[in-house]
Amino acid sequence: MTEEMNYGSDYKYIPTTSINSGLGMEVLPDVFSQTIQIVNVVYVGDPQSGEFVLIDAGMPHSADKIFLMAEERFGEDRKPNAIILTHGHFDHVGGIIELVDRWDVPVYAHELEIPYLTGEKRYPEPDATVEGGMVAKMSPYFPNEPINLGSHVEVLPDDGTVPHLPDFRWLHTLGHSEGHVSFFRDEDKLLLAGDAFVTVKQDKLYKVMTQEQEISGPPRYLTPDWKASKESVQKLASLHPEIAVTGHGLPMSGEELTKNLNYLVENFDQIAVPEYGKYVDKDYH
Ligand SMILES: [Zn+2]
Ligand SMILES: [Zn+2]
Repeated sequence: MTEEMNYGSDYKYIPTTSINSGLGMEVLPDVFSQTIQIVNVVYVGDPQSGEFVLIDAGMPHSADKIFLMAEERFGEDRKPNAIILTHGHFDHVGGIIELVDRWDVPVYAHELEIPYLTGEKRYPEPDATVEGGMVAKMSPYFPNEPINLGSHVEVLPDDGTVPHLPDFRWLHTLGHSEGHVSFFRDEDKLLLAGDAFVTVKQDKLYKVMTQEQEISGPPRYLTPDWKASKESVQKLASLHPEIAVTGHGLPMSGEELTKNLNYLVENFDQIAVPEYGKYVDKDYH
């Protein structure tokens, strides 16, 4: 099985972390967010039932941390029914080959993200020149070659349903990547946003380390389409989420989330879009 899956040749451990690394947070009785260095993976499922779905797959070389957490929360020998990806950036697929290899479960992603997960397409180079701090400067060092999951990755159903999560629907929230998706549960207005927006300013290394909460657009150095990204944030805000778990940073909820999300929508051009950078149109501002 492993023969047909491989990471890019630039796959490597990235030595950056946050104070929450290794910790997890029960956001709701059936939603658990685990922080791996600087990124979150989410376990959706009731621990009593032992049934769950894993959203995203962490940083490079993080599979063991995910195996441990899954075992701790759902019991020995339990495995998810599926792994569902918000998108395929290196910090969201870092452990996926080991996970698929051991668990032998399907991986789902948006149709437009599949070529980036089957070795056919590579993401635009991260923009180290973008307005921002240390993390952007480090970004050329991040893995960018496409991974190849071969036949293990499948397309999300086009009717918006989410495999094994009947109460959720997926929304195409492109901009940060072509096939980026977010997940929404209408019943309690829970949003799993991925990197459509995040609650930590990703381009400031000290904020990434301390996880100080600050709503922000998608991570700047990896976002090639700011117009689409803005529309995606508007789409998510129009759902009036009550709780948001984002790909980076701590979960946000209630009044704080509403206030911050509205602020982001209203001031997107000022606070999300960088002043300069190779993916910002000259006429954007
Ligand atoms: Zn990303
Ligand atoms: Zn990310």
